[in-house]
Amino acid sequence: MNKLDAQRQKEIQQAEELLFAGPQALGFAKGLFQGHFVSDWVMPYPRIPAAQQTELNKALAELRQFLDELDPAEIDRQADIPRKVIDGLGRVGVLGATAPVEYGGRGFTQMANCKLLEEIGRRCASTSVFVNAHHSIGIRALLLFGTHEQKQKWLPKLVTGEQLGAFALTEQEAGSDAANVQMQARPTDDGAHFILNGEKRYITNAAIAHVLTVMARTPVPGSDKTAITAFLVTPDMPGFTVLDARMQKMGIRGTATGRFALRDVKVPKENILGPMGKGLKVALTVLDFGRTTFGACCTGAAKTCLRLAIDHANTRKQFNKTLGEFDLVKKKIARMAADAYAMEAMTTITASLIDRGLEDYMIETAMLKVFTTERLWEVINDAFQIYGGSAYFVDLPLERMLRDARINQIGEGSNEVLTSFVALVGMRGPGMEFKEIYDTMMNRLGAAIRVPDVPVKSEQLRAHARQLGRCIWRFNFAVNRALIAYREPILDMQLVQERIAGAAMDLFASTCVLSRQDAEIQFARRNGDSAPPDQSAADLFLRQSFRRVRHFLSGLTDNDDKSLLATAKSYLAKRPS
Ligand SMILES: Cc1cc2nc3c(=O)[nH]c(=O)nc-3n(C[C@H](O)[C@H](O)[C@H](O)COP(=O)(O)OP(=O)(O)OC[C@H]3O[C@@H](n4cnc5c(N)ncnc54)[C@H](O)[C@@H]3O)c2cc1C
Repeated sequence: MNKLDAQRQKEIQQAEELLFAGPQALGFAKGLFQGHFVSDWVMPYPRIPAAQQTELNKALAELRQFLDELDPAEIDRQADIPRKVIDGLGRVGVLGATAPVEYGGRGFTQMANCKLLEEIGRRCASTSVFVNAHHSIGIRALLLFGTHEQKQKWLPKLVTGEQLGAFALTEQEAGSDAANVQMQARPTDDGAHFILNGEKRYITNAAIAHVLTVMARTPVPGSDKTAITAFLVTPDMPGFTVLDARMQKMGIRGTATGRFALRDVKVPKENILGPMGKGLKVALTVLDFGRTTFGACCTGAAKTCLRLAIDHANTRKQFNKTLGEFDLVKKKIARMAADAYAMEAMTTITASLIDRGLEDYMIETAMLKVFTTERLWEVINDAFQIYGGSAYFVDLPLERMLRDARINQIGEGSNEVLTSFVALVGMRGPGMEFKEIYDTMMNRLGAAIRVPDVPVKSEQLRAHARQLGRCIWRFNFAVNRALIAYREPILDMQLVQERIAGAAMDLFASTCVLSRQDAEIQFARRNGDSAPPDQSAADLFLRQSFRRVRHFLSGLTDNDDKSLLATAKSYLAKRPS
């Protein structure tokens, strides 16, 4: 076996272990790739149960009142979130929103939690990233994989914010390649402790956290291999060394992003989270939650941009007209409204998949993260453009929002890595080798899959629903054809993967929009409202989304890939002066 094959074999083995633990119900995204519309997971549009909605409304009112006092510009200027803000976040319950009530949390679902994060995302990206680092990922492994004893010991102070959490995966050699963690954890002779050595970088809350979930390599008994295991580490353990408490950075400046080393740090075996050697699965499951709240924060920020853009377009005059009277400004406002509507719908449905117990939602959370972070970048850019020169100055929030938003496409899995992941994992069924994928696709091609039914209740949405069904059918056909045309090399063909993932993301997004729209129309009907709710943004989104799907699929056969790859090859080799 040559080095490349060995590497591929290793990656496949890791993917098997991570993704395909056993038989699972067909999720929505996997269904899409097979030409099915698995409606149970996405329709009817999920709603928070009435009892929790009442509690959520109370929590949102408290949170809004608290956020009204928050000064995001000052947080950015001082590059610090003051302790009194952290205490306040603890008081209003967002630092332990999804933790069980028995440990002092609020016991909220992911859907409810996303509503809280959307609200914070509207106001201050530093604060939302801080809350995500602590709650969405910092204490997530403890919430998901901790034993009762571990939760009892650690959670009560963490859910109030008296203590802070962090999630430490990234290292010099383990960025996008998360499985390449080098930090070592060697068991002591009596097996009671592990000795940890290595360095972590780019860790949010690294130097202010009281408990860190740290990924390190442990030996696999009976072999010379190692596997990743998750440990709870506290900074008072001798050998815990902060190398840089607050790395100076461009955006989300209020967050403390740091670097630390563990030098012969002795960690009791009771601090292991989840099964030994299954830390990569732990880490990626944790990141699924982070990606969901990422979607919520981006939705909040997009709504703020839309509001700011509308205010400006309605008041600023040039050529004796308000900016909003120009079609090229209208185009931006309409697109922002359409995207914000879709981002919210997609976040809600993805969160509900977690709440409703779908076992494997990795593709959906990856799609949500890529889609919402890319859309937010466009939305901020559009709002910035509408403000013209004034956006460039620090007295308005847009320059800060632009700086803050740039990390979203990189953190918690860069969008390139996740795009490739969506295409490759979507194309394969549980535990399939490439030959099986190929054979299955060949069979499916022969089986003439029907256009799937998209069951909306509202008459006026039937045409969109039929169009979505046809797009899914075309998508499935195009995926099968690509697999047959390219065969195994498709595993390395990222330009093809990008189009497949891009189409899948738009199909998921338009499904979420249609589901939300259907629910809103039905709700208005039940209420006896005379005028139907404004559906213009949703309609526009669906039209544009279907057009993008067609564009992605036609790009599979009509493209400049050869020329593009040749140009990149030539330039990578010669490095112009
Ligand atoms: C402000 C901030 C806060 C962070 N907080 C945390 C935290 O709390 N905990 C934590 O563990 N980590 C954290 N990170 C780390 C973050 O998750 C990583 O930066 C991210 O995973 C990317 O890793 P990298 O920076 O090493 O980039 P690299 O892995 O070097 O990748 C650089 C670029 O290369 C491209 N690329 C890489 N691989 C591929 C591929 N397979 N295919 C195509 N393109 C590819 C992508 O465009 C990518 O953006 C944080 C980072 C920042 C900047």
